[in-house]
Amino acid sequence: MIEILFKKKLNNKVNKKILLLQENSTPNYSELNKIITKEECKALQNNDEIYYQGNHLKILRYKKNATHLDFQDLGGSIVNLTKDIQTASVFAPDKEIANVAFGFELGAYRFDKYKTSKSDKEKTKLKKVYFIGNSNDEQYYEFKILKDAIYMARDLSSEPANVLTPKNFMERIVDLEKLGIHITIIDKKELTSLGFNMLLSVAQGSDNEPYVAIMEWKGNQSQSDYDLALVGKGVCFDSGGISLKDSDGMEEMKRDMSGAGCIVATMKSIALQNINKNIIGAVGLVENMPSGKASKPGDIVKSLSGKTVEIINTDAEGRLVLGDLLWYIQEKYKSKKIIDIATLTGAVFVAFADVYAGVMGNNQNLINKLIKAGVASGEELWQLPLNKKYDKRIDSDIADMRNISSQRGAGAITAACFLQRFIKEKTVWCHIDMAGVDVNKFGSNTCPRGASGFGVSLLNKFIKEYI
Ligand SMILES: [Zn+2]
Repeated sequence: MIEILFKKKLNNKVNKKILLLQENSTPNYSELNKIITKEECKALQNNDEIYYQGNHLKILRYKKNATHLDFQDLGGSIVNLTKDIQTASVFAPDKEIANVAFGFELGAYRFDKYKTSKSDKEKTKLKKVYFIGNSNDEQYYEFKILKDAIYMARDLSSEPANVLTPKNFMERIVDLEKLGIHITIIDKKELTSLGFNMLLSVAQGSDNEPYVAIMEWKGNQSQSDYDLALVGKGVCFDSGGISLKDSDGMEEMKRDMSGAGCIVATMKSIALQNINKNIIGAVGLVENMPSGKASKPGDIVKSLSGKTVEIINTDAEGRLVLGDLLWYIQEKYKSKKIIDIATLTGAVFVAFADVYAGVMGNNQNLINKLIKAGVASGEELWQLPLNKKYDKRIDSDIADMRNISSQRGAGAITAACFLQRFIKEKTVWCHIDMAGVDVNKFGSNTCPRGASGFGVSLLNKFIKEYI
């Protein structure tokens, strides 16, 4: 555990002092006396990195028009600069010091709970970092909540499927009740009697039973309606079912619950910030496995909405889970504005790799706001068209619809067309396809290689500033 401390001025001795200064500027002692001595300042005039009487000092440069995301990125870069020392202090402009600390914490994330011995290379020696400037723990509070939520989403996405079963995931959600979130769990028996047949068809091949979890946050007691419903795909392992996936990379399919992980982490962050809005979150937790009980290509199921679906490919299962869930959240909770998020299609990865998530929906205003929140949070979205011509391609000859398109191409769009068939006419709805951005394959300053925790920052921004 690395301890983060905010100080107005530094008296402690540290192993390394890191100063964030604008490019081409020279160190100015009247500004930097919070962290360095006059002599150190003088020595830094000619060199951005010095050792002065046993102190290691380093200047990191930012551009004149640097944004808060640039400062988060610089903060993340400090992780690598400090892994071999025990203490460090960091100076940045007052306005940005919290962003620098936030970026540092995001970059310092590790998922190493299953390592029984850590090699020195992996183990950071760092114990304490002092962030020097006009910020304090109170001002950092919201950043800390968001950081914890992103950590939670990354943890959930990183857990192997033999640990994070639908039941285990459900139990972690129940745990959030202590934060004032009202939790409702729907088990297999009740799902069966309610008629969640599409969702159940995905789960029926697995020995691990499915659950639906509903999380209600009523931050605005004066109003009974929900300001927003968040729906997430929680396929805890997606083997593809009878339409079995290739074994190459199949281990990554433990992350097919990242949409649900994002929603759960977001609900937690909303509660901890005591946000004065009414938000409902719903996740469908299932495993998609082949077995003698598994659903087969060609099977026809009757969805919760009453519409029938011909399952052409059992690997297009996320939409089956979401379709019933979207319908339920509108019927039972009267949700009029819904955002769903899911690792839904390989097609969206083909289009955008890990740079953008795809966004589609029936309301341009909502899409525009989400795109703006994406830019501000650094989790960017790109819109794909929901043209009626695509929708026709999921018509079935013998049922109301098929679960994949009858033609090749536009797989991310036809998946959204499928979801739209479970959206009522007056419901404002957006779908975010986060397949691809759920993982940071190569690692970045603010996200080590592995689960990204995508969507938590985006939805936080959206909920706080755009609804
Ligand atoms: Zn699948």
